[in-house]
Amino acid sequence: MFDKLRRKSKSENTSYFIHFFAVFSGIFLVMTVIILQVMRFGIYSSVDNSLTKTVDNIEEYVNITLSRSVLNSLTGETSSEPPSDIKPKGQMVANTHLIVYDKDGNALNSVDSFSGLQNLSLNTNNLKKISEQRAKNFSGQEEVYRTITVKVDSSLYTDAKYATVVVNTTQLEDANDRYVKIIVSVMAVFWLLSVGASVYLAKWSRKPILESYEKQKAFVENASHELRTPLAVLQNRLESLFRQPDTTILDNSENIASSLDEVRNMRILTTNLLNLARRDDGIKPEIVEIKPQFFKEIFQNYQMIAEENQKNFYYENQLTKPIRMDKTLLKQLMTILFDNAIKYSDSNGDISMMVEASDKQLLVKVADNGQGISDTDKSKIFDRFYRVDKARTRQKGGFGLGLSLAKQIVDSLKGSISVKDNQPKGSIFEVRLPLTK
Ligand code: ADP
Repeated sequence: MFDKLRRKSKSENTSYFIHFFAVFSGIFLVMTVIILQVMRFGIYSSVDNSLTKTVDNIEEYVNITLSRSVLNSLTGETSSEPPSDIKPKGQMVANTHLIVYDKDGNALNSVDSFSGLQNLSLNTNNLKKISEQRAKNFSGQEEVYRTITVKVDSSLYTDAKYATVVVNTTQLEDANDRYVKIIVSVMAVFWLLSVGASVYLAKWSRKPILESYEKQKAFVENASHELRTPLAVLQNRLESLFRQPDTTILDNSENIASSLDEVRNMRILTTNLLNLARRDDGIKPEIVEIKPQFFKEIFQNYQMIAEENQKNFYYENQLTKPIRMDKTLLKQLMTILFDNAIKYSDSNGDISMMVEASDKQLLVKVADNGQGISDTDKSKIFDRFYRVDKARTRQKGGFGLGLSLAKQIVDSLKGSISVKDNQPKGSIFEVRLPLTK
């Protein structure tokens, strides 16, 4: 069964890994696409803005361009000043050029002869739409242009039929390519790192499941182990009864008494197991008012039990006013400690109990002069199924669950439990529980 669970847990690990990795990959992919889109949009938005603004005032720009062209061809000068009587309204970005065409697609103005502008041809298919064109410059390198072509109707220059506004975006494109490469490489590095992160997260998210699985496994193994002995004893005794059908109950009283003992033990064990398992989900204490009389009654009962077991019991009830606490849990806790003191002290041993309360906490002390607990065992006795001397404690009806139940109760009441040596021998258990007003 556990092998199956282990295999299942391994395949769960892979499935967790795949989920985390898929989420990381998705995030990186979306991030890369968004960053690239935003970058592209940012790079070209001012260019496109300039193109559309120029188109809005195309007549003025055509007039300026052609008048300058005519002036230059007459004087042979390369003046960049537009004629003072024609002023454009829009704002152009640097690097913007205008090519004016006649109806046959011949350029009417001269353009920079080193660039690829000369090699751009009129394209009337996508009028008023921004598009990308590529052309080779004089040294044979390809240049990229963002262009928009519109029809023109100039009263000054009637030959002018089309105008193409052009912005050279070769450098922007190069920079963009470089950024794209950097972004894609950075994302790829992070994507590779996410493989490691996914492995780590898959393990990390399974940790609490694995821990509780290990706990559960140990619990079931221990419980089955504990049940096996009394069941084997019972089976033995019952078989021996079966083999002698003519004998009377009196003849078999030893067998029956011992069977009953085992049944009683099993009942205690199963009740304890049930309590532990139920309370693992968390105990909800019911805080009520407890009067000093409550402890007096408990101590009187313990006195009787101690006498039955030939032990001397001393108690001290220092409570003068009521406290607020869970009655049932407190009584269970005190009984576990008292039971142990009885079980693990010698005949005629001395057991003493004391309760005392300040404004903030309740202190319960249980002392005995029994065999005591070694320092190494002190840290283990609160673990489930832990017994110092397995053979001896089993005879005494112990399953190693009492103190783990006590610890569970103390934890639920947000208190602490500790054990120290008694003088000259024996142990003292101390429980401190915070009190609420
Ligand atoms: P059990 O049901 O076996 O008593 P507990 O969890 O109550 O289980 O105790 C765990 C172990 O701690 C016991 O088996 C016993 O060896 C040891 N122990 C507990 N209380 C005492 C005590 N008062 N004196 C000596 N040993 C003790």
